Amino acid sequence: MGAAVTVAPIAAPSGSLPTVGCMAWDFETEPEFQEKLDWMKGFVRDEIIPLETLDEQWRSPEGRDVFRRITDPLKEEVKRQGLWAAHLPPDMGGLGFGQVKLGLMHEILGQCVYAPAVFGNQAPDSGNAELIAVGGTRDQKERWMQPLLEGKYRSCFSMTEPTAGADPTLLSTRAVRDGDEWVINGHKWFSSNASIADFLIVMARTGDDDPEQPSRSRAYQAFSMFIVPADTPGVNILRDVPTMGEPDHKTGEPGGHAEIIYDDVRIPFDNIVGGEAGIGQGFSLAQKRLGPGRIHHAMRWLGQSQRAFDLLCERALTRYTHGSILAEKQMIQDWVAESYAERQAARLLTLHAAWTMDQLHAAGKHYSDARVEIGVIKFWGAKVLYNVIDRAIQIHGSLGYTTDLPLESMYRAARAARIYDGPDEVHKVTVARQVLKNYRASEPSIEHVPTRRAAAIEKFADHLESLTLNE
Ligand SMILES: Cc1cc2nc3c(=O)[nH]c(=O)nc-3n(C[C@H](O)[C@H](O)[C@H](O)COP(=O)(O)OP(=O)(O)OC[C@H]3O[C@@H](n4cnc5c(N)ncnc54)[C@H](O)[C@@H]3O)c2cc1C
Repeated sequence: MGAAVTVAPIAAPSGSLPTVGCMAWDFETEPEFQEKLDWMKGFVRDEIIPLETLDEQWRSPEGRDVFRRITDPLKEEVKRQGLWAAHLPPDMGGLGFGQVKLGLMHEILGQCVYAPAVFGNQAPDSGNAELIAVGGTRDQKERWMQPLLEGKYRSCFSMTEPTAGADPTLLSTRAVRDGDEWVINGHKWFSSNASIADFLIVMARTGDDDPEQPSRSRAYQAFSMFIVPADTPGVNILRDVPTMGEPDHKTGEPGGHAEIIYDDVRIPFDNIVGGEAGIGQGFSLAQKRLGPGRIHHAMRWLGQSQRAFDLLCERALTRYTHGSILAEKQMIQDWVAESYAERQAARLLTLHAAWTMDQLHAAGKHYSDARVEIGVIKFWGAKVLYNVIDRAIQIHGSLGYTTDLPLESMYRAARAARIYDGPDEVHKVTVARQVLKNYRASEPSIEHVPTRRAAAIEKFADHLESLTLNE
């Protein structure tokens, strides 16, 4: 007889949780917040998106000065509107928007690469501010987080190494205590924005685990995070690695992914994130940082895929070929319908994950309890982004392949979404492991009809007996 299977709901956190301090979401947006969103839509469309077409101009130091002169007043306007650095709760120095509101907001900001910075909400700074907010000491919040929130500092998160990424238990950068100092040695790459940062948050091994044969449970307590001022002697930035997204990137331009040698880098003991209590807390802090970071990416992808979808539909209605406009051809209608459905699913999954995180925060629980929801939108959102841009390029034919449209650069940037903040496969492993915890093995199958029939005969024996007598 097959064992019964208990399937616990995985879509929502368990129990009924209070909704203190965050917006309940019932597919309607609070009218006051909708007004802010409407303002943002116009502001991003009219003031920020036009900057994109001049992106070559902003690459030189003089160009960056001009860019700052244009965007500084925009930032002031965002502050006047009460929309600056909305990602942190008030007790951590932000506006306390919660993830649902942020999701709706990022959907607009994600349309343009420059928009998050104008709203004080750009990666990796937003995630690093969150990291110091949840794990830093009071001094670290004042010294490093506050200037970050005010937009006076730029930062970098330096974890991945050329020989270790998706499995961070294999990281080999090491920090050793020497009196009142830590000494860091190691080799990192893909440290985004390191070459323009004021400080770097570096993940380094402080425990004794053998990186060649890590025992996973001990490995997770073998790392700590450190705040390293960028001008510390021994922080040797070798280069910003040219990528598919930016093959012509020059070291020192914003948005680079630096390769760094940390060579006997000495920092004060107090620069370990969380102080003494932060020793061995690197993984736990990384999870706290990456949870919100991942969902913010997924939110921004919705903005990008919306732009691609708009172009897809516009082209379908415009281009005439083989006897009709493209919109009248069933294969193109399939793309429109599939893209619409995939985007809508991604949007709902993203906002549901955001809602789950808000409920957990309100209940004093940690976002890691939403790892299924976050893992799903990380790989699903990246796939949808890629699919929609790909179809938008295809429907434009040769025009879609040119730099006359933004689609080719969106496509190159979208490819990275399946890799950064953990590759698809790792998120699928997390989701599958959690989902499978709600099941157990059964032989024969719980749906095995002969077994169920035997049980039914036993259960209804009295009634079946009368049936036999009637015969
Ligand atoms: C644009 C961009 C920006 C980035 N920014 C930063 C940053 O600011 N800071 C930082 O520290 N890092 C950053 N990264 C690095 C990124 O987080 C890593 O690339 C990522 O975690 C994967 O690590 P890896 O490249 O070493 O791949 P590997 O660990 O070598 O994995 C390679 C591939 O193996 C497969 N794989 C791995 N594990 C499994 C598994 N368990 N099951 C099945 N398949 C598996 C996946 O297909 C994966 O893509 C960035 C990367 C990109 C592309």
